[in-house]
Amino acid sequence: MTQPALDLVIAALEKIREKNSRAPRASKTALARLQDARAVIAQRPALTKHATPADAVKSAVPSGDADARDKADLLAEVRERVGACTKCAHLACSRTQTVFGVGSPDADLMFIGEAPGADEDLQGEPFVGRAGQLLTRILKAMNFAREDVYIANILKCRPDMPAGSFGNRPPTPTEMQTCRPYLVEQIDIIQPRVLVALGAVAVEGLLGTRAAMRELRGRWHTYNSIPLMITYHPAYLLRNQAPSEKRKVWEDMLQVMERLELPISERQRNYFL
Ligand code: SF4
Repeated sequence: MTQPALDLVIAALEKIREKNSRAPRASKTALARLQDARAVIAQRPALTKHATPADAVKSAVPSGDADARDKADLLAEVRERVGACTKCAHLACSRTQTVFGVGSPDADLMFIGEAPGADEDLQGEPFVGRAGQLLTRILKAMNFAREDVYIANILKCRPDMPAGSFGNRPPTPTEMQTCRPYLVEQIDIIQPRVLVALGAVAVEGLLGTRAAMRELRGRWHTYNSIPLMITYHPAYLLRNQAPSEKRKVWEDMLQVMERLELPISERQRNYFL
């Protein structure tokens, strides 16, 4: 990319920012390419011919998109295997469908929950029930849309319930161990900069650690060298409406935003869920 082309891209991004309340977003690969372009310009002063806006967009965007497409293809392949999985025969029989995951294949931020509930089993998407709606609100307060992040569960099938009973049950350690490799593949493909585990069951599934949430949450852990924040599951906040508990989750999310080097407004700092 030439300097004029880079200037055009920056001008276009500034226009988008002026028109929208949210800052424009770019994948981390696209940003890396823009930074590389600067270095190339510095090393190759002869490349200064004028570029059209179309040239600028072409040279700035497709490589990042190509990377995201590769990740999407890889995720689609895992999704196909999950869709046909019968490793837990009892769950394969009782599920309406598998619930793989949703969001950007190139997300910087990935949330991990425990298992699909009744709503998720019906819709085939994680976190769509009441707890999911609360998670969407938390994301919005962080200036994210659901499609900006990636959301998945340890278990891809809804834990079965005795006939005639209501509600959801947590997955067993065996079920989590059996399904965990799919989540590991998702994380390996997406390579998020930060992981958030929602609730003690998700932590147990991911790290194999059993401990009280008050000991785990609010501080950084790691999973395969990826920074991992542990916080309460949104369902816990629905059961426990105490402002102090909601504030704890929000403080955990502020730490996540800081880790991702996102701008945090005064309003966000003082926010209560
Ligand atoms: S829970 Fe996971 S491992 Fe078990 S059947 Fe479903 S997809 Fe397969």
